[in-house]
Amino acid sequence: QSLFIGVDIGGTNSEIGFVDGEGRCLRKIVIPTLPYHPFRRFIDEFVAQIRAGLEGLSNYTCVGMGVAAPGANSLDGRIRDPTNFGWPDVDLARVLRDFFPFPIRVANDATAAAIGEKKHGAAKNWRNFIMITLGTGLGGGIFVDDQPLIGHRGFAGELGHTPAEPGDRLCGCGRYGCLETYASATGLRRTMLALTAKYGDRSGRFQDVSYNELSARAIWEAACAGDPPALEAFEITGSVLGRKMAEWVPIFDPEAFVLFGGLTRAGSFLLEPVRKAFRASLANVFSGDIPIVLSQVPESEAAILGACHIPEYLPESLSIKE
Ligand code: BGC
Ligand code: ZN
Repeated sequence: QSLFIGVDIGGTNSEIGFVDGEGRCLRKIVIPTLPYHPFRRFIDEFVAQIRAGLEGLSNYTCVGMGVAAPGANSLDGRIRDPTNFGWPDVDLARVLRDFFPFPIRVANDATAAAIGEKKHGAAKNWRNFIMITLGTGLGGGIFVDDQPLIGHRGFAGELGHTPAEPGDRLCGCGRYGCLETYASATGLRRTMLALTAKYGDRSGRFQDVSYNELSARAIWEAACAGDPPALEAFEITGSVLGRKMAEWVPIFDPEAFVLFGGLTRAGSFLLEPVRKAFRASLANVFSGDIPIVLSQVPESEAAILGACHIPEYLPESLSIKE
């Protein structure tokens, strides 16, 4: 029987999933990413875990492995994300190919999420859609004519680094005012901090709280309690995102948008301003019904299910020849 391996490399933990042909996750292994610095040590542990996992599933044959990571380039399989992993610039696919006989493909985490949504979620019947992942950063995965958009140099869909607001918010990419500095968990925290400085802390909740102590969850709890600055923080986060989404409509002509990631747990605090700003900013001629929905892949399996289908959507012929 066929077996697929889907891997999600995150800033804190990495998940390795062994998935059968029906999309059932047979086994999941979680290893911490950070304690395994440097890269070589991470790889040793990673390879050992995959080998152990495969041994336990000896009546299956692995037909391919997909690896998703933030900052990963879906074309050349390199990861250039010093802010998340502290690895300088690694050719993960190439390193892994020395250890395993099956095809191995590396893709951007948000592109992988879009692939997962296409195979197992809300996007099954859509040929054109935009997936937006809202976690620590903002990622984008774009499907055009039933294929994930990769681009000339492999970073199509890096929507978090499109300009959103003028001003002094420095982004991890080195530029100011990127969408990600507003519409992400970190963006929400920055907005909350700015509002607290502006109004004073009306609820007393965030008095003397530093950026590091301020969690997106605490802001959500404050919003649930009706705290005006917290509600405003969500309002700003959602409207900045909704306006940008409207900008993408004439470029990609999507059938729908899918939102995914930790920040979407805020539900209507986030979704209402997103939808309102989206509708208000959309040119009349393009407006029609463009649904904005939440991901329908169970959160605990989304990353793995998306990742394990990467080889299917990104064939070998796509990657730059070494
Ligand atoms: C990275 C993207 C990634 C996103 C979500 C952004 O900062 O540039 O590659 O998809 O975060 O993890
Ligand atoms: Zn940026």
